[in-house]
Amino acid sequence: MSCGQTIIVGAGPAGMTAAIFAAQNGRPVRLLDTNGFAGKKLNITGKGRCNITNDCERGDFLDNIPRNPRFLYSAYDAFPPRAVMAFFEELGLKLKTERGRRVFPVSDNARDVTDALTRRLDTLGVKVEKARVSGLLIENGAVRGVFAPNTIECANVIVAAGGLSYPLTGSTGGGYALAGQAGHTIIPARPSLVPLIADIKDNPQGLTLKNIVFTVFDGEKRVFSEQGELLFTHSGVSGPLVLSASAHMDDRTYGAEIDFKPALDTRTLDARILRDFAASPNKSLENAMPALLPRSMIPAVLNAAEISGETRVNSVTREQRGRLLNTLKGFKINISGLGSIDEAVITRGGVCVDEIYPKTMASRLVKGLYFAGEVLDVDAYTGGYNLQIAWMTGRAAGVSV
Ligand SMILES: Cc1cc2nc3c(=O)[nH]c(=O)nc-3n(C[C@H](O)[C@H](O)[C@H](O)COP(=O)(O)OP(=O)(O)OC[C@H]3O[C@@H](n4cnc5c(N)ncnc54)[C@H](O)[C@@H]3O)c2cc1C
Repeated sequence: MSCGQTIIVGAGPAGMTAAIFAAQNGRPVRLLDTNGFAGKKLNITGKGRCNITNDCERGDFLDNIPRNPRFLYSAYDAFPPRAVMAFFEELGLKLKTERGRRVFPVSDNARDVTDALTRRLDTLGVKVEKARVSGLLIENGAVRGVFAPNTIECANVIVAAGGLSYPLTGSTGGGYALAGQAGHTIIPARPSLVPLIADIKDNPQGLTLKNIVFTVFDGEKRVFSEQGELLFTHSGVSGPLVLSASAHMDDRTYGAEIDFKPALDTRTLDARILRDFAASPNKSLENAMPALLPRSMIPAVLNAAEISGETRVNSVTREQRGRLLNTLKGFKINISGLGSIDEAVITRGGVCVDEIYPKTMASRLVKGLYFAGEVLDVDAYTGGYNLQIAWMTGRAAGVSV
């Protein structure tokens, strides 16, 4: 192939999209990935179902990008979720929209997403080649090739090598080294959408709570508060709510609270407890509470309220009931930090977007160099927004080379 070609580093969602749009424009393209095949991480997204995008409007999309949303304005307008959905339908992938406007393949199989993209690449004559790109050849401020490990000459390089999370999928931060070599500033990579570490007394490991409110405090300041699903793990808490909360947090200590009964105000909950107690006055507290809480949660709650589970319901004092009520409306958890980047859904940080043209994803520092996807310092909450970023930045780079 000629040295007028484009090398794409990484065959994840961003790299595949970039390759499709570049090849459709008649550009000679080579798509390199350490794995030798496409979409290793894509195949495990959405618990194997792949939440492709979120069928939302611009404002809602940008509200779900905690860092550098303005950088994404142009890329979003050129390839918004509806256009992404049309693109996949055109590739023969049937889609459905679920709660929270989350879009999935009808087949509930993430591999079908990878296959649809790979088929399109095939028809465009682009094959994924097994190669690890270890460096860039830059001369006179312009990219001239890559080392993989032999030198491959080219006119353009699109770095779509992902972040650092789930390294077994191939996302091992190789893109940061390439960007650094080109003189780009790298905002330190940290985990986001990650479980939280907490030492919980009588931790009901494995228990999932639905429709609770999880609130995180930094001192007095409330940094996150939402209703949804939370899971207790051996090392703390996880689940959709917790992952979303982590996007607002750094790796340090925070206070957190669970409201087990968000639909009931304190007075209504107190009346409910009194009714339950009156119905079985001779039961022990731990046996009277299952109507109120899952059984495995009861020891931790009673422990926090400093009441013995063996206390007879008819001997619970007003003060004890007050403590129980406060615990049910605000079960305290001391968060000691974020889980590791290996178990994070995405990486926060990456190539500083001030050094990238937002319309084309081109480097402002080196001619012919482009970035797309998670390697950039943009990230989003859960809901299909992270893949939307990969599709639209991949497309922006692909059409620009
Ligand atoms: C468990 C899990 C579930 C997720 N679920 C969802 C979801 O449902 N919806 C959603 O929106 N987002 C989801 N995400 C996030 C989403 O997967 C990422 O945002 C997305 O994969 C980023 O795409 P990318 O192309 O930038 O990078 P990646 O998908 O990480 O692809 C990068 C590729 O580059 C290759 N590579 C790296 N370095 C080199 C090198 N030096 N040379 C050659 N190749 C290299 C890697 O092998 C890899 O294949 C999930 C993430 C995880 C971990």
